[in-house]
Amino acid sequence: MSVTENLRAVEKRVSEALKRAGRPENSVTVLAVSKTKPVSDIRELLQAGHRDFGENYVQELKEKADLLPEARFHMIGHLQRNKVKQTVGRAVMIHSVDSLRLAEEISKESVKQGVVTDILMEINGGNEESKFGYDFSEALDAAAEIVRLPGIRLRGLMCVAPFVDDPEKNRPIFRKMYQLAVDIRSKNADNTDMNVLSMGMTGDFEIAVEEGATIVRVGTAIFGERSRKAFQELTFAE
Ligand SMILES: *Cc1c(COP(=O)(O)O)cnc(C)c1O
Repeated sequence: MSVTENLRAVEKRVSEALKRAGRPENSVTVLAVSKTKPVSDIRELLQAGHRDFGENYVQELKEKADLLPEARFHMIGHLQRNKVKQTVGRAVMIHSVDSLRLAEEISKESVKQGVVTDILMEINGGNEESKFGYDFSEALDAAAEIVRLPGIRLRGLMCVAPFVDDPEKNRPIFRKMYQLAVDIRSKNADNTDMNVLSMGMTGDFEIAVEEGATIVRVGTAIFGERSRKAFQELTFAE
């Protein structure tokens, strides 16, 4: 199967999940997670009319975004403050804001560039030591601080749920994410437009859609398995 056929299959599963949940058609964006994958794969999807892609590494996002101006790249990986300068103005949205200091850096750089950067707060939904993000319990207070910053707009929440054998196990996390987004939205703060829930990956995106995801981030089901080695060997310039 080509990457385009894979994407269509994912989109079909998304629309079936939307139907099951009684949600409107086309209310979910499939973010094609192209990290470590070659520009030729992205070009194929661009030709098929797909626009939204997710990248984890700033250098890779930068190279691909500069080569493919018609694509919309989202930053979904952990972001270090010293890489913010290269990310702002290139990424259409930063999904992985996990500290006030990072938000402040994005704010500063956005003001400098004269842009408003759309951000999501990353939530450590499974409470895993190894993962980045706010705990559910601290997210409301953190949101209140973040939205005071100029040059950024809080658009919603993101989580990387635990890797599980049965995706049903992540349903309670997705449900809590939805509720937290409702709670933050109800504060009606400035600099917010809370309508994005970025959750669900290859193993669990249908459950996430049933629980209210508006963006699913799907890599493996579209592009196939990844290896770190492939990334190191690739040069993205053609
Ligand atoms: C790699 C990655 C994905 C995609 O994962 P798959 O399981 O391949 O669909 C989604 N979100 C983030 C943050 C990732 O790092």
